[in-house]
Amino acid sequence: MLGGLIFCLCVTAGAIGKLALAKVLPPKRDAAQPSVQTEVQTDAKKQKKEKESAKPSAPTQPSPTQPAQPVPTTQAPTTPPTQNKSKPLPYLIVDKYFTNLRTDNPATPIYDQYTATERAELGLPVEIPDIEPYAEKKVAYLTFDDGPDLTNTPKILDILKEQGVPATFYVVGWRAEENPDMIKRIFNEGHAIGNHTYDHNYDSLYSAPNEFLWQILHTDEILRGILGVRPLIVRAPGGTYGMFTDAYWTMLDAYGYTEHDWNVCTNDATEERPDAARQIEYVNAQTQWPKKDDAAIVLMHCTSDKTETVKALPEIIRLLRAKGYTFGVVTPMTPQPY
Ligand SMILES: [Zn+2]
Repeated sequence: MLGGLIFCLCVTAGAIGKLALAKVLPPKRDAAQPSVQTEVQTDAKKQKKEKESAKPSAPTQPSPTQPAQPVPTTQAPTTPPTQNKSKPLPYLIVDKYFTNLRTDNPATPIYDQYTATERAELGLPVEIPDIEPYAEKKVAYLTFDDGPDLTNTPKILDILKEQGVPATFYVVGWRAEENPDMIKRIFNEGHAIGNHTYDHNYDSLYSAPNEFLWQILHTDEILRGILGVRPLIVRAPGGTYGMFTDAYWTMLDAYGYTEHDWNVCTNDATEERPDAARQIEYVNAQTQWPKKDDAAIVLMHCTSDKTETVKALPEIIRLLRAKGYTFGVVTPMTPQPY
């Protein structure tokens, strides 16, 4: 139990000063850029890209000694999804200058129609401006990492739908490539999608900030190819504690990403492999006292071996509700867990 708690109680490494943007951003082109609204990605192009993208270790990696090189924009920006006009969008798409990056509803996912690379190329702001975290009380953020898969992700989505609870799925790039329909389902059912790198390989991700950045940018291209929008939120595999140096934080900041670790976890990815009852106990114990900013960010996983997580989920939801929590999705406005 204690070991599990120590595992969970990761403290996010301190923030950092910012490097000059010029050091990390790709060079700007002149103003003669194609209009992103008029370009539409063809299915054929998308399929070609999917075929070309080997998984999970195939991407050409930047040399750690080279400056960060953004992934070339191989896909034209797609038009953001359109919906029935009589029904409001279940998510917010930030505008060019982030002026609408504000919502009082913590259950509203937030996405961007531009990738970070495109923003830089178009001369648009890349870094997210300072924003006030939600002032809501007692919001629980259920987060499911490492998917999507075709076994447990749909079961989790069924439970969330039944319970009327939104959640956040930090997805892995190569799994998104394999299961684009599951990405669409998560998106269409009003949950938030976050970027959990392309291959989830600690050795490469934490060998150099450029490798981490490359995987984030590449996964964003994949997600935008599927959805027409891309996330602004990232979760570092394994959490940032002991993994991130200051350079990682500076880089994510400059590229407009917000990282969230967690402050509650079910230990479902630890060697302990707790059963459902034990997972519920962990959540209960870790929410006995108020959390920072009343925000409980709960780490779970949704891959094929997480059947106990699926079993535990309805009771975890009931338990958090009984403690007075409502449910939100992670966005750049979500308070940090520590
Ligand atoms: Zn993970």
